[in-house]
Amino acid sequence: MKVFISSDMEGTAGVVDWDQCRPSGSDYDHYRELLLQEVNAAIEGAAAAGAREFLVNDSHSTMSNLRPDRLARRARYLSGRHKPLYMMQGLDTSFDAVFFVSYHGSMSGAPAALSHTYNPRAIAEVRLNGIPAGESGINALVALGHRVPVVLITGDDVTAAQAESFCPGIRAAVVKHSVSRFAADSLHPEQAREVITQSAADAVRQLADAPLPAIALPATLTVRFRNADLAEMATFITGVVREDELTIRLRDDDPVRLYRTFVTIVLLTRGIAE
Ligand SMILES: [Zn+2]
Repeated sequence: MKVFISSDMEGTAGVVDWDQCRPSGSDYDHYRELLLQEVNAAIEGAAAAGAREFLVNDSHSTMSNLRPDRLARRARYLSGRHKPLYMMQGLDTSFDAVFFVSYHGSMSGAPAALSHTYNPRAIAEVRLNGIPAGESGINALVALGHRVPVVLITGDDVTAAQAESFCPGIRAAVVKHSVSRFAADSLHPEQAREVITQSAADAVRQLADAPLPAIALPATLTVRFRNADLAEMATFITGVVREDELTIRLRDDDPVRLYRTFVTIVLLTRGIAE
């Protein structure tokens, strides 16, 4: 049994500030260790329930936050920049389950620690088939395309609730409760890891009943930007339709292609986001 793990960083217990999860930050080394241990907690839980192969796709910042030699169970490590499928690079039909580890909430919606949707300087809100979506919902498009269920998310309470809209029945390992975008009440890291291990094991044990992401196709992504220049730039891409001054939409019957177009928009608008 193979598990694909997309790991971010903002959802780690104790993390509440950009400084803690940027390589230039003064406390980064401490928090990257906590992240590594949460990723390993998910791996160990899955392994206890019978999973044997693991691929960890590092999806945060420069995408090289983990220590390859310290990953549990000889997990493979996909790291580094310019990945065409970004947070979901490496997933294919050979996998049995997807985990989202240390995820965070969407830019729109209830306050969630370090909330954003791909680019906090460019994107104000994303809707998927009309429903507000965070990275978990957007990334679930790729899981749907490869017909692999998303069965675990770890992070704060708001992030967990947002995943449920697109991944019904997903197990949530809630390691902190958000107070604001820059404050959260976290479990002790040891307890957070226990919760993650237990949730991962439960998720793998009940894999047979896990549904695929509930996203009707063709799917529509609606993206509202923080200014009109960004929306204009997104329309440089074929198939992107301007909805109003700040908003564009894109529609596709292939969920992986839809995700790739979205990633292209993210990368394109990064150049002018301030
Ligand atoms: Zn991140």
